[in-house]
Amino acid sequence: MTAPDPEEALDRLLRDLRSSRRGLSDREAARRLVSVGPNVLAARRGPGWPKELGRQLVHPLALLLWLAAVFAQLAGTTPLAVAIVAVIWVNALFAFVQERHAERAVEALTAYLPPQARVLREGHPRSVDATEVVPGDVVLVAEGERVPADARLLSGVVEMDVSALTGESLPVLRSALPGPTSDPLLQATDLLFSGTVCTGGECTAVVHATGMSTELGRIAALSQRVEIEPSPLELQVSHVARLIAVVAVGTGLAFVPLGTLGAGLSLADTMSFAIGLLVANVPEGLLPTITLALAVGVRLLAGQGALVKRISAVETLGSTQVICTDKTGTLTMNRMRVVSVWADGHTLDVDDETGHEVAPSSALGQLAIAGAACNNAALEGEGEGEVEVGDPTELALLHLAGRLGVPVPDDHDGRLAQFHFDPALRRMTTVDRDRDRVLASTKGAPEDVLPRCHRIATEDGGARPLDTAGRAGIERVVGAWADRGLRVLAIAGRPLAPASWSSMTREEVEQDLTLLGIVGMADPPRSEVSAAVARCHSAGIRLLMVTGDHARTARRIAEQVGIGRDGLTVVNGPELDAMPESRLDALLAGTDELVFARSSPEAKMRIAHALQDQGQVVAMTGDGVNDAPALRRADIGVAMGRSGTDVAREAATMVLTDDNFATIVTAVRAGRQVYDNVRKFIVYIFAHATPEVVPFLLYALSGGQVPLPLTVMQILAIDLGTETLPALALGREPPEPDLMDRPPRQRGARVIDRAMLVRSWGVLGGVSAVLVTALFLATLLAGGWTLGDPVESGPLHEVWRQATTMTFLAIVSCQVGTAVAARTERASLRQVGLTSNRLLLWGIAFEILFAAAVVTVPVLQDLFGTSPPERWLLLCLLPLPFVVWGADELWRWRRRRR
Ligand code: ADP
Ligand code: MG
Repeated sequence: MTAPDPEEALDRLLRDLRSSRRGLSDREAARRLVSVGPNVLAARRGPGWPKELGRQLVHPLALLLWLAAVFAQLAGTTPLAVAIVAVIWVNALFAFVQERHAERAVEALTAYLPPQARVLREGHPRSVDATEVVPGDVVLVAEGERVPADARLLSGVVEMDVSALTGESLPVLRSALPGPTSDPLLQATDLLFSGTVCTGGECTAVVHATGMSTELGRIAALSQRVEIEPSPLELQVSHVARLIAVVAVGTGLAFVPLGTLGAGLSLADTMSFAIGLLVANVPEGLLPTITLALAVGVRLLAGQGALVKRISAVETLGSTQVICTDKTGTLTMNRMRVVSVWADGHTLDVDDETGHEVAPSSALGQLAIAGAACNNAALEGEGEGEVEVGDPTELALLHLAGRLGVPVPDDHDGRLAQFHFDPALRRMTTVDRDRDRVLASTKGAPEDVLPRCHRIATEDGGARPLDTAGRAGIERVVGAWADRGLRVLAIAGRPLAPASWSSMTREEVEQDLTLLGIVGMADPPRSEVSAAVARCHSAGIRLLMVTGDHARTARRIAEQVGIGRDGLTVVNGPELDAMPESRLDALLAGTDELVFARSSPEAKMRIAHALQDQGQVVAMTGDGVNDAPALRRADIGVAMGRSGTDVAREAATMVLTDDNFATIVTAVRAGRQVYDNVRKFIVYIFAHATPEVVPFLLYALSGGQVPLPLTVMQILAIDLGTETLPALALGREPPEPDLMDRPPRQRGARVIDRAMLVRSWGVLGGVSAVLVTALFLATLLAGGWTLGDPVESGPLHEVWRQATTMTFLAIVSCQVGTAVAARTERASLRQVGLTSNRLLLWGIAFEILFAAAVVTVPVLQDLFGTSPPERWLLLCLLPLPFVVWGADELWRWRRRRR
């Protein structure tokens, strides 16, 4: 099929596409799918692995290392130069593999939420995978949905957000009416483009291009691609990494005069040693490890029902201070069931399975009929195979009609017009033909429907005026039902003159109504929510409920799940609208939990804004088109995978596949865990600095009287050999028991703070340094060395080799203790259990084997300048891990007590 011109006359276009307004048949669609191919955009090829690997070889820290290698070569120490180059390569490969891994984890997410499209097949609307849309398909697009392919409008008027294609942020109007032909194509008023979203109205359109033939495919802007942008955490750490690199270069440089003038070393020796220090202290492996930890968090969450679209959001999640949540569907099950009906002064409880036949002409009968007419839900199939499609509120009304024995329309053949449910107006109206009459049916929130009613239907099928006392009585019923946590809807209707309905506006139709009655629907809270709310409270997270429902219904549900246990303030919509900013700020800054009832969509935006101005980290849920700005605004916008609109999902940072509030809490917990683990491995990696530098200072400050405690190659063996696996394993540490019992960290809190450095460099590193230095000196003295004896050659040379080996082994041994200690920041080891991180145990085993090999394998002995010390000295290594770990255990114990 040659590509048709989308702007030719509609009939011609349909003919060219060999399609019609009724869409394609199933078989034809399947055939086209084979010949045209699936409606997907070929994934944008990354830069390719050689380029990505290359990037790892030339980032700033790597460049620093290259420079060091050059200097090492100039200084005449070829083995060192070779070692450094090896280090660069090993690190680049390591970073490369980790980043690939991270990317995969995130890309795999798209598979979890296959986008759907509604198309006409065999003349009936059907939901299919968006990948199965083919040219000639007639697609249905309604508010909140994403256009699956490029298409020409057949009917309807829609408001489109085309920003994904053009960057234009204002919505544009598109309609089936032929407009002036325009160039460029993107501006044509009767075309829809793949990737744009509908923000209002509904339409049908015939697809003329799919997949890579679409405009979106042409510019290959994969807007739904998951972003990997540096997180605040990574930025902070890279800042610290650079700082440390500068310090490393500084110490290296400072060592040159110290070594040559002070200790009387040759320039070449000094240089190579300075270079070793520098190489050892440049933390080049830190960043990829953090990216990986975040990506692992993303993958973990995907398995638990939360799709995080930005890797960096995992970290933000952990610092969530306030969660603003919807009620319906998120806290509750969104399985509505009518339990009470009120008509003409009588209440009927329909909370049982028995039928309640009513006369179609009675008030109750009319209510049931109007409820089923003013409805877009459907019950398809019979008995066991019955499937429900549509809004649960409307489904409940269909079931009610069934139980009251009035006929439920299969399709709305008699539907003349529809005024959509509008969350701002909180009501919906349809106009239907009923034999020779035209009836308007309205349903909505009682506050919004009652004032439009002037009469009330009576049991005998007539109507009487609605007086003040009557209204007050109805309001009492509404209030009482709301107090039970029921969602209350008023249902009303009116006959319209057959001649004039078509020219009436929404406002004109929705007035002078006759109240048919009210219904009360139960929507029980989800069972997991109470526990999740309690967990939020212990974790210092405040909950705000933002709902369009009645204040008293909302309050009751809040009470049921435990929101506001220590104080609850309910703010009603009109109250909020009239509330000055200062008062809202005071409310939000207070400690009470809040319920915003009958809230308008703008309210969410206002609340998110105000909270953020106070510096609070806000997670906010939303599902409608109107929620999108607030979702974008919040630190973590949360959309619903099942019930939400595409627009909300697009705007959100996280999508809940199960729509469940409890999943948000799980995600917060995972975020906290990742953040903690990053801190753990930083503690571990930093801790070796002190025992490496202190003995060496002794050497420098004694002017060479005390010999060099550690060779350059040995330093490299520690930093880049023995330590790598335990550090990685710490990134997989299970959460500490108090993870959700402490308040959230403050926005902007430093990942590397003073307490952490004190612990890492001071406590863990300090204790290690003392032990290491002591063993180094002990080995020398036991070998007959006295202060000032030369060790470069002569009888003491072998003793010195053993002593440096001892330093090396002692540092490794202390790091084993550090690894175990670093597993917890507050808790004791007993609380988490020694064996709860298997990976770490393997990592430690590797560390010990590696060290043993360096000391015993002849080739490595030559390379690293090692020589095995005597047995009694080796035995001295055994208690070291326990001493280091014990010291830290005491320190943590003291912190817990404070
Ligand atoms: P929420 O999702 O927070 O419960 P909504 O914005 O969906 O709130 O609904 C607000 C109010 O609008 C409901 O309390 C109900 O009175 C009314 N309403 C909800 N759904 C419909 C509908 N399909 N048709 C008419 N009115 C509705
Ligand atoms: Mg809703």
